[in-house]
Amino acid sequence: MTTPTIELKPSASPLSGAEREAILASPGFGRHFTDHMVTIKWTEGRGWHDGQLVPYGPLSIDPANMTLHYAQEIFEGLKAYRRPDGSVATFRPEKNALRFQHSARRLAMPELPVETFIEAIDTLVRQDRDWVPAHGGEESLYLRPFMIATEIGLGVKPANEYLFLVIASPAGAYFPGGVQPVSIWLSEDRVRAVPGGMGDAKTGGNYAASLLAQAEAAGHGCAQVCYVDAVEHKWIEELGGMNLYFVYGDRIVTPSLTGSILEGVTRDSLLTVARDLGYTAEEGRISVDQWQRDAENGTLTEVFACGTAAVITPVGTVKRADVEWQQSGGEPGEVTLRLREALLDIQRGTAEDKHAWMHVL
Ligand code: PMP
Repeated sequence: MTTPTIELKPSASPLSGAEREAILASPGFGRHFTDHMVTIKWTEGRGWHDGQLVPYGPLSIDPANMTLHYAQEIFEGLKAYRRPDGSVATFRPEKNALRFQHSARRLAMPELPVETFIEAIDTLVRQDRDWVPAHGGEESLYLRPFMIATEIGLGVKPANEYLFLVIASPAGAYFPGGVQPVSIWLSEDRVRAVPGGMGDAKTGGNYAASLLAQAEAAGHGCAQVCYVDAVEHKWIEELGGMNLYFVYGDRIVTPSLTGSILEGVTRDSLLTVARDLGYTAEEGRISVDQWQRDAENGTLTEVFACGTAAVITPVGTVKRADVEWQQSGGEPGEVTLRLREALLDIQRGTAEDKHAWMHVL
């Protein structure tokens, strides 16, 4: 694999400093984008080439672009945080780089070298570092690396040209008014991913597949969907965009990676953080019936979801077809909040980074 250099072609921001500060005061999520983006091309026979940092702007796409028809698209999501000393760091970017390669293999796309993935992110964050919110709260700069096919033509086959891009968007605190439990709809008929399918790849199709169940969840008054396995329709897998953890006193359990679950970086990190704090952390199988039974008999003390966007979200109300229950009395649990703070402290640079997870720019 060739490692292309990234040529810098920046231009002055179209926004004044005051306009940028106004956005950073209330960024929301995924609504505003920074001044630049990185693009790198891949062509069959030539490999990766023409890496560039250019002003953020629209792409010109031919109507017969193969991504529009056959959905060869993969993406990643990670964050850059401002540290107490003003420097900026990303959290475990090599994990995202490796997952991006895994997704690429599954969709018959070319693999971007890990060092190029990280260099592309570093180049964009260095250029647009004024867009990384100030240290203190839970604000961050969300980074969205992605890859699309750029070959023009109809006919189902792996494309012979691709474009890798990185864009960035300032993200506000996920819970500006304090951590709130999320309500969950247990979708026992619609599935997100099947054995041998693409569930462990981060590709747009998985999210398209989740939208109808998500709308059904909203119809049941729930904010998120929990998916079960596609064969027996009984084993808990994950939410549409977050992994799950079940807390049994001082033991935490997350569903094992079956191939139809996305291997979350937050999920993986929490196995380690929990052990560092003295908890037992395991991967295992939990059924819908067990969830309901253990919540009702009180042995399941807390449930939380985890992912880059919210870090950790407590689960409150859980609904399935004919029954609903309150997890932890509908309040954020103690273990949930402790793990959340511990991981956030590492990400914000206010706790010792003993596993060398932070990539300081
Ligand atoms: N599952 C799915 C389906 C997701 O989209 C995400 C978000 N990337 C996660 C889990 C959590 O992964 P991570 O901790 O890497 O953000």
